[in-house]
Amino acid sequence: MAGNITLTMIKPMAVHKGFIVPILDKINKGGFQIIALKMVWMNKPEARVFYKNLKDKPFFNSLIRFMTSGPIVVAILRKENAVEEYRKLIGSTDPKKAEVGTIRREYASSIEKNAVHGSDSDENAIIESDFFFSKIERFGLEDLA
Ligand code: ATP
Ligand code: MG
Repeated sequence: MAGNITLTMIKPMAVHKGFIVPILDKINKGGFQIIALKMVWMNKPEARVFYKNLKDKPFFNSLIRFMTSGPIVVAILRKENAVEEYRKLIGSTDPKKAEVGTIRREYASSIEKNAVHGSDSDENAIIESDFFFSKIERFGLEDLA
């Protein structure tokens, strides 16, 4: 059965451009319930842990620099089949390929500065949620596995 949570980050450039509220509004209108939410500024060791699966990619160092360049907004979102549903709402990694109406199409600056993160599997949604949030920072705990 598909899981019902995903982890999102509103990335530094989108925060800098004032897109926190419009992006949260799209999340809300997309039928996702926000069950945890905060603003944080990651340091490089933290960002390297978060993105450890991408450490061999040519863009890894640049991504770490970007993701630690300013504060981000992180949230756990709940919806049936959350990972897949949220990836539909955010659109393709490359905003030029993202469908009209998706978050990345509307709010991204480039493939790297692509406005938001979305977990890519139920397993990673749990790992990423645990990375950012303790139990007392989450609501609706009764529904979390
Ligand atoms: P995310 O994990 O942020 O939801 P994604 O799953 O669509 O994005 P990944 O392949 O996991 O894409 O890449 C993680 C992040 O690395 C991307 O969101 C983007 O910020 C950056 N990235 C991915 N591909 C490139 C690239 N070719 N050049 C520069 N940055 C990239
Ligand atoms: Mg990814």
